Amino acid sequence: MRYCKKCLQTDTRPGIKFLENDICPACNYHNQLKTVDWDSRKEYLKSIVEFGKRNNNSGYDCIIGVSGGKDSLRQALYVKEVLKMNPLLVCLSYPPEQLTQRGADNISNMINHGFDCVNIYPSPQIWRKLMRKGFFNFTNWAKSTELALFSSVPRLAIAYQIPLIWWGENAALQLGDLNVMGKDGSDGNNLKKMNTLGGGDYSWLLDREINKNKILQYLYPSNDRMEKANLRITFLGYFWKDWSLVDNGNFSTLRGLDIRSEKPWEIGDPLGITSLDEDWVTLNQMIKYLKYGFGRISDYVNEDIRLGRISREEGIELVKKYDGKCSEKYIKSFSKYIGISIDEFWDQVDKSVNLNLFSRVKKGVYKRKFKVGKGL
Ligand SMILES: [Zn+2]
Repeated sequence: MRYCKKCLQTDTRPGIKFLENDICPACNYHNQLKTVDWDSRKEYLKSIVEFGKRNNNSGYDCIIGVSGGKDSLRQALYVKEVLKMNPLLVCLSYPPEQLTQRGADNISNMINHGFDCVNIYPSPQIWRKLMRKGFFNFTNWAKSTELALFSSVPRLAIAYQIPLIWWGENAALQLGDLNVMGKDGSDGNNLKKMNTLGGGDYSWLLDREINKNKILQYLYPSNDRMEKANLRITFLGYFWKDWSLVDNGNFSTLRGLDIRSEKPWEIGDPLGITSLDEDWVTLNQMIKYLKYGFGRISDYVNEDIRLGRISREEGIELVKKYDGKCSEKYIKSFSKYIGISIDEFWDQVDKSVNLNLFSRVKKGVYKRKFKVGKGL
């Protein structure tokens, strides 16, 4: 395991490839931003806006996938107020047992800024079964739900004949999952190659009880269907100089976003601005840490190092303290939801712990072998 020389990204992130000088793709992109010709990028953005307005078959110029969180609120307002477009928002909602009150309030806050929004609620029973399956097959409960989240938007875009789709962050540029990279940094038509989405493969969702008609909301449209519908998926983050967790968090909090009040060691998040609408992504971040050696706080720290807000040394201390942390209460509520005991939860996690990176003290207790910032 190696670390980027500039930030604290490890080369264990799926899809990542460091440059020859041990620099991660996200730091490389950040460096390039200094020399970007923003005027020509603005012109490019204009041409995309025109594409949306030209193909306004339904009355809506574009569609935006939203959750009501910090990124989506900022994007929605930008599209409406800066780009002067008429967007339709699409929100794939969590089932009642998973959605937090804060998540519901944030959706209300967002639409109260004057938006039309379609909410999609996949069947809670199937949702829960698939989550359980994702947890036992991949030790990643979000594998099916992310498929639903990312499929819902192009599906609706095709149904409503709205060819322009905005998403926010390009994971290839801003995180380093290079499989997502399209023909340029704004092109999101390769989104389904993202690690979690596995090319849109849904075969593992099927079994004797669950046939294809039960998982329609999880089916990512085929390339053929997307081409016929002339779909154009675009990352808005590519056009912003200041796309970051903190900037988006500040912007949206000032516009009514309700954020978390838990402590960093309960959620592995120093500012409480991520995963506002449910509580279990936090435990997935802990599992990610045990699989790859980096968790949620690494994403914050990496961004802050690049932006010069903290030094790499300060980052190392934060990562040591908080990465991979998750409150017991979320492990409890998650286990209860998918119908397993805490012991069974740790049995499964135990199988996925990367023993090259961690030594096993006992089930549920692991000690890192690597040095943060240095590697193995
Ligand atoms: Zn880096």
